[in-house]
Amino acid sequence: MSQQLASFSSLWFDSLSWQPTEIQQSLFEKLYEKVLAANAGLNLTRITEPEEFWEKHLWDSLSAIRHFIDTYPQRLKANFKVIDVGTGGGFPGVPVAIVQPDWLVYLLDSTQKKITFVERLTVELELTNTRTIVGRAEAIAQNKPHREAYDLVLIRAVANANVCAEYVLPLLKLGGTAILYRGQWTPEETRSLEGALEQLGGKIGEIKPLTTPLTGGIRHCIYLTKFARTPPNFPRAVGIPNQQPL
Ligand code: SAH
Repeated sequence: MSQQLASFSSLWFDSLSWQPTEIQQSLFEKLYEKVLAANAGLNLTRITEPEEFWEKHLWDSLSAIRHFIDTYPQRLKANFKVIDVGTGGGFPGVPVAIVQPDWLVYLLDSTQKKITFVERLTVELELTNTRTIVGRAEAIAQNKPHREAYDLVLIRAVANANVCAEYVLPLLKLGGTAILYRGQWTPEETRSLEGALEQLGGKIGEIKPLTTPLTGGIRHCIYLTKFARTPPNFPRAVGIPNQQPL
């Protein structure tokens, strides 16, 4: 198999004090191949070069998880359940499932063709710790087996932060963590998000700025925690969170 991502192995260590195992590294290569091959027909990502794939998909997906594990080890437990809301071509959920084989990672997207791709991908990568779901976050979060069922909820590039908060808090267990993957971040967004979270039983635990290691891009990961049950009227009906953000 080709080794297009091998040259980044020391960068993992330098930036995150962590390195994928050989098995994980070969799964990353396979993932890159499959995403590239499917991309033409499916429009999964505009990213095609190995450098960009490594930085914007792999590093970006996993840096937030390394920080979570290093900073909040007490939140990890057996049967750890994760959901990636709006996973698209499988990010950040698939890289997370690759590096944390003991976590059960649900991959949710409202688009059937994306989930068809992600399902096939997880079979080809022989991942046994993933489950795929087609549906809207608003509907899934009102569905008993999913409501307040997850220890960790991930959401990247799906909607504005207040809309993301309405999607993720209802899925989160009390005491659980949600990570909003954002680019630039402003104090106004913090204030606005705090207003939304108050209604959802959540609060901002940490705002972690990050610089991507190859191109110096700005990222912010917003770590939310859940301290109270989310009132049953959230999330509102399909489409409403986006049309009338909290
Ligand atoms: N998280 C991926 C994809 C981002 S594109 C990445 O960062 O690369 C946004 C994805 O969210 C699309 O695939 C879209 O179908 C999905 N999506 C948007 N709104 C959604 C909702 N309410 N519920 C579930 N999926 C949603």
